[in-house]
Amino acid sequence: MVAPGCAINTRLCVDHWGYSSVGRASRSQCEGQGFESPYLHLKILIEFSASTPAREIFVDITERVVAALPSFGEAFTGIVTVFVPHTTAGITINEGADPDVAQDLIDSLARLVPRNAGYRHSEGNSDAHIKASLMGSHVAVAVENGRLRLGTWQSIYLAEFDGPRTRRVWVVATSSRT
Ligand code: ZN
Repeated sequence: MVAPGCAINTRLCVDHWGYSSVGRASRSQCEGQGFESPYLHLKILIEFSASTPAREIFVDITERVVAALPSFGEAFTGIVTVFVPHTTAGITINEGADPDVAQDLIDSLARLVPRNAGYRHSEGNSDAHIKASLMGSHVAVAVENGRLRLGTWQSIYLAEFDGPRTRRVWVVATSSRT
């Protein structure tokens, strides 16, 4: 079986095998036909970029995560972890139907964590760091036969607190297959 993630970004597959602590795969293993190691069935990492057009904005990345799922195999069943490798942006799940919910979250976080409050960090973006930690760096979502099992009203949001920028998002699959 070809490890599907490798077709999209071989460098990431190779680089992050060590990071995953599951095991290391060589470039030839990632690109090889008929590779049968259980490791590559267990964890594959996909990266995509997302633009955030304001300093504080929630960007719905649900469809981007859905688009990554075929890379894990047609009938993939397991868990995907959606992870943001940044310190002033987070990942959260909340209502996607009414955009006012995301704006209420942004407004409420701004009240909880004012932009200027005598912080020590000299960069001037301490509020963004704190809000990112409140949201967290990842969410885990079940996938059944290639379908993301979110609740009816749930969306996955990239929560930007120090934009506008281009952010990276990683989707890591943990399969039930052995
Ligand atoms: Zn900073």
